[in-house]
Amino acid sequence: MMRYPFLDLRTVNEPLMAELTAAATRVIESGRYVGGPECEALEADLCRVAGTSHAVGVSNGLDALRLIFKAYIELGRLAPGDEVLVPANTYIASVLAVTDAGLTPVFVDASARTLNMDTDLIERSITPRTRAILTVHLYGRPCYDEAMIEAARRHGLLIVEDNAQAIGATVFDGRPTGGLGDAAAFSFYPTKNVGALGDAGAVTTDDGALADAVRALANYGSERRYENIYCGYNCRLDPIQAAFLRVKLPHLAEENERRRALARVYDTEISNPRVVKPEFTAGSVWHQYTLLIEDRDRFRAYLGECGVGTDVNYPTPPHLQPCYRRYAHLHLPVAEQLSRSVVCLPVSACTTPADAREIAAIINRFN
Ligand SMILES: *Cc1c(COP(=O)(O)O)cnc(C)c1O
Repeated sequence: MMRYPFLDLRTVNEPLMAELTAAATRVIESGRYVGGPECEALEADLCRVAGTSHAVGVSNGLDALRLIFKAYIELGRLAPGDEVLVPANTYIASVLAVTDAGLTPVFVDASARTLNMDTDLIERSITPRTRAILTVHLYGRPCYDEAMIEAARRHGLLIVEDNAQAIGATVFDGRPTGGLGDAAAFSFYPTKNVGALGDAGAVTTDDGALADAVRALANYGSERRYENIYCGYNCRLDPIQAAFLRVKLPHLAEENERRRALARVYDTEISNPRVVKPEFTAGSVWHQYTLLIEDRDRFRAYLGECGVGTDVNYPTPPHLQPCYRRYAHLHLPVAEQLSRSVVCLPVSACTTPADAREIAAIINRFN
């Protein structure tokens, strides 16, 4: 194993082993293996985290996004073929949810400063068919500002948040991500800031009709047993994951503060002129700490030799993936450049501030 591992999930969960085991035992002994009180309690906790009146636990983050778009279609708020603005620099799941619902993604290039959707490009990306913006708070940094709010208001667009990487992040007015727009998707994939011990996700919203539609769609399209109002799916939250998440969620603020402290060390100590550090945004929860460097492969090999684990989020933007050949002609220069130069440093619970100082010193010796 690396001296400074990028991420080791066993180490992350080690301090909570006894509580996680007790949570699993509680579910096993309850006899309630689908839905039930563990799921309901987690949903109540998530309403508090997002500041929303509804939360619906679901199977994973991709399903959370898919169910939001499908629910809007069932409710007549969106129709197949409608255009949804999506950031060009994102994880593929954001885009898969749009296309899976029969909607048309319109890629908005990234800002070289925030690495998120360049909100100055929103207005010119809007056509008469545009109905929604899917904003992704990538790397834990919120993507929500006046330009986005104003464009959504002027054109009557829905704002859907992909909050998979930013649970607990806050924006300019102090509000948390997950409660900013019309609906939000959360992922509790094990590597996220709050990770389950398997797959899990959630939808948050203040819209009761949307929450009901998402819950029904995730349960075969049914609200009442053996009555199917939609052609639905089985995308329910597993109660054993809900029980694990109820152990993890109380540590959210502490976890995000720990990440902020590591990011602060990197920000103050890394001084190598060959690397570009991320903007030190207030409110970011640093799901990833991203550097940009021209010579990425040699840099990563050097760090690996020095015992520093790194990752690349992401080496290929969605529009250049084989499954999206139909978008391969698009020219999204900032996202394409980011995919060639981005590298993620360790910010997990495996890394201490002293480790981060040592990693910064190693980076400063690279030439
Ligand atoms: C992880 C992630 C998802 C998908 O979540 P899963 O739970 O893995 O399905 C979606 N969007 C972003 C930005 C993610 O990081």
